[in-house]
Amino acid sequence: MAKSYDANNVFARILRGEIPCKKVHETEHALAFHDIEPQTPTHVLVIPKGAYIDMDDFTAKASEAEIAGLFRAVGEVARMVGADGPGYRILSNCGEAAHQEVPHLHIHLFAGRDLGRMIG
Ligand code: 5GP
Repeated sequence: MAKSYDANNVFARILRGEIPCKKVHETEHALAFHDIEPQTPTHVLVIPKGAYIDMDDFTAKASEAEIAGLFRAVGEVARMVGADGPGYRILSNCGEAAHQEVPHLHIHLFAGRDLGRMIG
């Protein structure tokens, strides 16, 4: 069964300005803000402005401009926070098995320390 978007999820509410966030960057298609419980010295979330549940939903339904806009914004954020120097990690949890907590697509950007080797 197709999943339906919950318009009251916390990131939808941040996009509507109902909940504050520590904004890092905003473009036509994306909003970036600091994670409320950072797991690394720099931990930013980059989200599309459109109502997409996860990467599956986004890549199936979003326009080319929205897709390009989101990924362009990730790169811009990395440069803005200085994560492009020593390096950074981007990650997006999709669905239950990945323990996605908020059902609005978000890309985590982790930086600010050695991130170790990626494990599944
Ligand atoms: P997920 O587990 O879905 O990939 O990640 C959700 C992330 O959203 C978590 O890292 C969590 O700390 C963050 N988060 C949850 N609620 C809020 C909030 O209200 N504001 C911000 N800035 N981050 C949040």
